[in-house]
Amino acid sequence: TLSDRLSGIFTKLRGKGRLTEADIDATAREIRLALLEADVALPVVKAFIHRLKERARGSSVSQALNPAQQVIKIVHEELIHVLGGEARRLNFAKQPPTVIMLAGLQGAGKTTLAGKLARWLKAQGSQPLLVAADLQRPNAVNQLQVVGQRAGVEVYAPEPGNGVGDPIAVAKESIEHARRHMRDIVIVDTAGRLGIDAEMMAQAVGIRDAVDPDEIIFVIDAMVGQDAVATAEAFRDGVGITGVVLSKLDGDARGGAALSVREVTGQPILFASTGEKLEDFDVFHPDRMASRILGMGDVLTLIEQAEAAFDSDQKEKMTAKLLGGEQFTLEDFLEQLAAVRKMGPISNMLSMMPGMGQMKDQLAELDDKHFDRVEAIIRSMTPTERTTPKIINGSRRARIARGSGVTVMDVNQLLNRFENAQKMMKQMGGMMGLPGRRKATK
Ligand code: GDP
Ligand code: MG
Repeated sequence: TLSDRLSGIFTKLRGKGRLTEADIDATAREIRLALLEADVALPVVKAFIHRLKERARGSSVSQALNPAQQVIKIVHEELIHVLGGEARRLNFAKQPPTVIMLAGLQGAGKTTLAGKLARWLKAQGSQPLLVAADLQRPNAVNQLQVVGQRAGVEVYAPEPGNGVGDPIAVAKESIEHARRHMRDIVIVDTAGRLGIDAEMMAQAVGIRDAVDPDEIIFVIDAMVGQDAVATAEAFRDGVGITGVVLSKLDGDARGGAALSVREVTGQPILFASTGEKLEDFDVFHPDRMASRILGMGDVLTLIEQAEAAFDSDQKEKMTAKLLGGEQFTLEDFLEQLAAVRKMGPISNMLSMMPGMGQMKDQLAELDDKHFDRVEAIIRSMTPTERTTPKIINGSRRARIARGSGVTVMDVNQLLNRFENAQKMMKQMGGMMGLPGRRKATK
């Protein structure tokens, strides 16, 4: 498996003291092969390897880790990136009902997913309606009814005994039914075929146009290999896709499908299906999937611990410094800034708060740009200026501004802020019982 191959590669690196260019090339080549063997699509592999090499060459990787750990960490982070980074939530309609249409090949897990989604949404206070728009197989309607009963959700289906119904008509009527009965979410189960098929695609398009869905979820069996790419492309071009659900992740699935499908469709993986029971279902977590592909849960935990230990080392040094009555310098400020930035953008934390979602992108740009500027300014200072900011007079300010590509006003602003921070640190030192310093603060 991919995990085994990667473990092998990392074992080879473990003994090394330092990563040379040749090490990086050799490792990248092997990872490339491993990904291709796991059925990851070639363009995805290429982009992945490119980023991996860039990052492995950069020296800004954590000082807390050895070279092998560093490569694992980079591969892990890049996997998360390819898998979509953060999980995306469902799109809801401004005017209910929200319509979710399921598409995918026969056996992909659509009907099962319909029940899982309905159960999950109901638990969150919604009133979903399941719609049987798969009238292809005699048993399909019945299967959805069983699933609906388990989920405790109403199923909209054509009356039995009226011959083969028209799935497009049923889908259209179901929206009216949902409006009349105050169902706020409509989940439309559709028919699939064993392979990509023009008639199936035409029917899916017909249903799509009849219900105008807010989400078109492409369901794909995680066990399929290279076929995932062709199938995903066919549904992307044929019906259009707004999100993906990976099913059968409880099986011995290779990572390949998950990796390619995200890249090929350009759409996020929203949920993961992990069994036949309705509760075997969860929001898709790229980080967990990445760990699973790497198959190195223990190693990853170790890496996190090593980094945490390194950070607390730094914190201790800082506290000792302050208690010893030493000045808090711009150098320390820079170090702290780097530590804060390592936790990720502030906008990430904000985005978890209700109502802040829309501001996220703006904020991300803002805080990153701002931090970049502060870092650039401090880096343009001489070591003496960093430890003794008092000496930074007008001409020094002008030089620093030029060096960091900002205005003198930006430099002034930073120095003012720093002065305030320094005062606060002194006061904190005083409160902690710092000898001989109490008088220095007013
Ligand atoms: P559909 O043809 O796309 O509607 O697929 P179904 O929902 O009927 O699922 C096909 C088969 O896969 C059924 O036997 C399901 O019980 C099974 N199945 C669906 N999702 C999962 C899953 O996440 N894990 C496992 N192990 N089986 C699943
Ligand atoms: Mg089905």
